[in-house]
Amino acid sequence: GGTIRFENVRFAYDPERQILKDVSFEAPAGKTVAIVGPSGAGKSTISRLLFRFYDVQSGRITIDGQDIRAVTQTSLRDAIGMVPQDTVLFNDTVRYNIRYGRWDATDEEVERAAELAQIDGFIRLLPKGYETEVGERGLKLSGGEKQRVAIARTILKGPPLLILDEATSALDSATEKDIQDALETVSRGRTTIVIAHRLSTIVAADEILVLEAGEIVERGSHSDLMAKG
Ligand code: ADP
Ligand code: ADP
Repeated sequence: GGTIRFENVRFAYDPERQILKDVSFEAPAGKTVAIVGPSGAGKSTISRLLFRFYDVQSGRITIDGQDIRAVTQTSLRDAIGMVPQDTVLFNDTVRYNIRYGRWDATDEEVERAAELAQIDGFIRLLPKGYETEVGERGLKLSGGEKQRVAIARTILKGPPLLILDEATSALDSATEKDIQDALETVSRGRTTIVIAHRLSTIVAADEILVLEAGEIVERGSHSDLMAKG
């Protein structure tokens, strides 16, 4: 399962300014939908609504037909994996950061996730508990390495739904390509919403929505939209 639907969603942080205006779309189970648009268009607001940081003011959001207003924030956090633009890590080992939220995971499972995200070097080098720490006191990971830790955590957690909110936009273009491959590994088979500024950075999305000033102004495949310019 895992179909996400936005039905005529309207939302405003304050009454004078409508942020989302009648937004409707579906992310079918297992598919990837990309939402592209300029800064301020309302893209991240869509992910905040999915986690119920705020509730819609009219319309509704459903997951497999169930209105999310009937679902707790905790359940939503369990069901939806999120890779943000800048991952903030705990000042602890890479292993701890990958395992975070999945304390029942075995060492083998953690290592497998680290391998898929290609960050296994950081947990294999030293015995458990003595691995390099992240943060001020320890190793300073690069932006790409931090994203790999976030990806490994998401792989380990294995949620059916996934939001990638400009997950590679803080990286240089060589690193971006690398991380993009890892992201495609995570998004395979999961319902995924990819949020991006530019159409040119979107790969392998089943449908692309263009959001401008809170409205979906175009939708189609990558080639449809490229053809329109
Ligand atoms: P995007 O992700 O497309 O850049 P956002 O969804 O983050 O856009 O923001 C859409 C608009 O909502 C922006 O104009 C932003 O300033 C405004 N906004 C975001 N969060 C808040 C908030 N908590 N209170 C008031 N306005 C907000
Ligand atoms: P930029 O700032 O370079 O325009 P964006 O803010 O548009 O980047 O970020 C969107 C990012 O989402 C892209 O850099 C890309 O790596 C990533 N991305 C695009 N399509 C997919 C996909 N189908 N699966 C996973 N990640 C994707």
